Amino acid sequence: MRLSWDDYFLKMAETACLRSTCLRAQFGAVLVKNHTLISTGYNGAASGVKSCLEQGDCVRERLHIPSGENYEICHSVHAEANAIIRASFDLMDDATLYIFGLQQEKPRSGMPCFMCWRMIFNARIGKVIYLDEEGQKKIVNVKVVDRGRILSYSERET
Ligand SMILES: [Zn+2]
Ligand SMILES: [Zn+2]
Repeated sequence: MRLSWDDYFLKMAETACLRSTCLRAQFGAVLVKNHTLISTGYNGAASGVKSCLEQGDCVRERLHIPSGENYEICHSVHAEANAIIRASFDLMDDATLYIFGLQQEKPRSGMPCFMCWRMIFNARIGKVIYLDEEGQKKIVNVKVVDRGRILSYSERET
């Protein structure tokens, strides 16, 4: 069976997530424009900082910090952020961001966190496509989204 474009790039995001250095949750992101890959990213420690994998310890996991809270104690850069900082600003205009997440080898919603939404808005990305925890495809048209609502929704849900 031939993959659709969306499934093709979601598979690439899944592959990227397998490069994650976090023990708690793994995310992969790919940025695409005109069916062409612009950049990829996965979540992991910032350059020069010991990763969860190297330390054998994820501080957020150890302290049972709920998703979406106390990001300041973690040294990681999110998958979406890594994809964005590796891409050219002009190419990101109206591009599509695909996100795939795993937690304990089970699907985890690829819905961006509130910090990443802000970056997505400023990068002028047009569409975000991710799989939720049930593996259902979610498509968010960034340009028509109520940004205030998305931000408060993701603060509660991720
Ligand atoms: Zn971690
Ligand atoms: Zn994020």
